[in-house]
Amino acid sequence: NALNFVSDCATADLAEQQSSLAQQLTMEAELHHALIKGEFFLEYQPLFDFGRSGQRMAAVEALIRWRRGNGELVSPEVFIPIAEHSRLILQIGRWVMEQACRDLARLQRGGFPDLQVSINLAAPDFVNARLPSELLALTEACGIAPQHVCLEMTEGMVMKHPDKAVPVMTLLRQMGFKISLDDFGMGHSSLSRLKELPVSYLKIDRSFIRGIPHDRGDKAIIRTILDLGRHMGVPVIAEGVETDAQFGFLRQFGCTLIQGFVLGRPKGLQDLLGAAPLSGAG
Ligand code: C2E
Ligand code: MG
Ligand code: MG
Ligand code: MG
Repeated sequence: NALNFVSDCATADLAEQQSSLAQQLTMEAELHHALIKGEFFLEYQPLFDFGRSGQRMAAVEALIRWRRGNGELVSPEVFIPIAEHSRLILQIGRWVMEQACRDLARLQRGGFPDLQVSINLAAPDFVNARLPSELLALTEACGIAPQHVCLEMTEGMVMKHPDKAVPVMTLLRQMGFKISLDDFGMGHSSLSRLKELPVSYLKIDRSFIRGIPHDRGDKAIIRTILDLGRHMGVPVIAEGVETDAQFGFLRQFGCTLIQGFVLGRPKGLQDLLGAAPLSGAG
């Protein structure tokens, strides 16, 4: 009968919740070990600038990878959300920042003197009031300028805690760091809030790029974001660009900052150093 059905469902739900909680705790423990055992590494995806001075690699985005002891590669889309449930995300975030700043110093010495690095932050990072001074100390220790470090924060996360995020963002900008609003278009920004955010770049979410050249709605949204950025004086980055048609559309409507598999996949530091125009210098 109906009541039995309801209680069966509730039991099934509870069992499911318990097993997913157990999985989460297991993975948290594994992530903790991964940090200690050095199972994380970074890959860097190039971002190209097609502005007036011709095509150049302006930045690389640091993307974390986890290679488990058994060789399996785990996507950050799987383990970052789990790490975000605990304080582990702060330790992972700190590891990424240290590694990325050290690697940028090597890249700058190794033939890319003006290169910037983009670092993805998780929500607990940028509501951390100590983040700006810690990052400044880190860049000083590594011998790189804050102007060469861009922090990517998703629009969704910033809009969820604007009262905590905005003061941290403001301080970071005053110190010279850049800030990019990642996955833009997915995070329900109110326009009045957006105009107050101290951001250096808007980064259009990959899901809108996917619709080019067929989806009229996606194309309209992309053109609107490009116009918005132009009128606000905030450069717009397109990510996840996979095809020549997508690339051509973006260039046609004035997007000069482009990232995606069509231009370059994430790669290791050694690969990048090997491709340096002045390689051998580092
Ligand atoms: P994101 O910051 O939006 O990064 C872009 C993702 O799109 C990356 O996936 C990148 O490899 C992928 N991508 C780039 N170009 C293309 C393309 O042309 N086509 C397709 N299909 N994909 C493309 P990845 O490395 O798996 O990272 C996924 C997400 O995990 C990132 O999204 C970011 O939110 C998070 N993440 C990655 N590294 C870190 C990190 O160090 N810290 C934190 N907190 N989050 C990170
Ligand atoms: Mg990003
Ligand atoms: Mg993104
Ligand atoms: Mg993303």
